[in-house]
Amino acid sequence: MSFTSLELIEPVMKALTDEGYITPTPIQQQAVPYVMARRDVQGRAQTGTGKTAAFAIPIIQLIHQQKMQAVSRKVQTGIKALVLTPSRELAVQIEESFATYGRYTNVKHTIVYGGVSQVPQTNALRKGVDVLVATPGRLLDLINQGFIKLHHLELFVLDEADRMLDMGFINDIRKVIKHVPTKRQTLFFSATMPNEIQKLASEMLDRPVKVEVTPPTSTVDKITQSIYHTNKADKPRMHDKVR
Ligand code: AMP
Repeated sequence: MSFTSLELIEPVMKALTDEGYITPTPIQQQAVPYVMARRDVQGRAQTGTGKTAAFAIPIIQLIHQQKMQAVSRKVQTGIKALVLTPSRELAVQIEESFATYGRYTNVKHTIVYGGVSQVPQTNALRKGVDVLVATPGRLLDLINQGFIKLHHLELFVLDEADRMLDMGFINDIRKVIKHVPTKRQTLFFSATMPNEIQKLASEMLDRPVKVEVTPPTSTVDKITQSIYHTNKADKPRMHDKVR
C-alpha cells in the first residue's frame, strides 16, 4: 500500500515525500481513512509505530481543506483540534510532526506545557491557532485564566492514555473534557488498555473504530553484535576497573 491510496492532498504528499516516507505504517493504513471519515478511533499502538502521523496527517488534511473552502466565507476562528499528551517531550515531538507534515498547508499550530513561562505561549495563542498540542496541567491553567477556549473544538486527541493514568492525569483529563463540546471527533491512543483506561475510552468515544498494531521490533532484535579482532595485548585485563 502506498500513501496515494490514502487519498492525501498534494501539500501533505509533498511533505511526506520530503521526509522520504514511501509506505504508510500499519497504524496509519488502518487509522487514516477513519479519521478522514470523521469517525472516533480507539487505537492500541506504542510509540515507534508511526501513530503520531496516523492522527497528525488526517487532522492537517481535514483542517486545511476546511480552511480552503472557508476562504470566501466568514472563517470560524478558534482551536479546531487539541492533542493532549502526558509529557513535555512528547508534546514537543508531536508539535514537530504537525510542523513537518503541515509545512505546505495553512494549518497553524502551537504548544503549551508547564515548567516554563506562559507568556510566549499565550502570545502564540493570541495569534490564533488551529491545532493545540498540550500537557494537561498547563492546559487547565490557561483555560482557567481565560487564554484558551475550546468551544469550537472539532477534534480531540488523547495520546498515551495509559501513561496519563500512570502519571496521575486522569482527573485532569476529565476536567478538560468538561471544556470541550460533546459533539466532536475523538481519537484515543494507548499502548495498553487496562480497565481504567477502557472505562475512560468508553466515556469519551462514540461508536469508535478499534485499530490495533503489534509493537515494533523489540529493542533486543534491534541490537546488532559486531566482533572486533584485537591483539591479546590490547584486550582489557580482567582486573582492569571500568571507570
Ligand atoms: P511515532 O510512533 O509517531 O513516534 O513515529 C516513529 C517514527 O517513525 C518517527 O520518527 C516518524 O518520523 C517515523 N515515521 C512515521 N511514519 C512513517 C512512515 N510512513 N514511513 C517512514 N517513517 C515514518
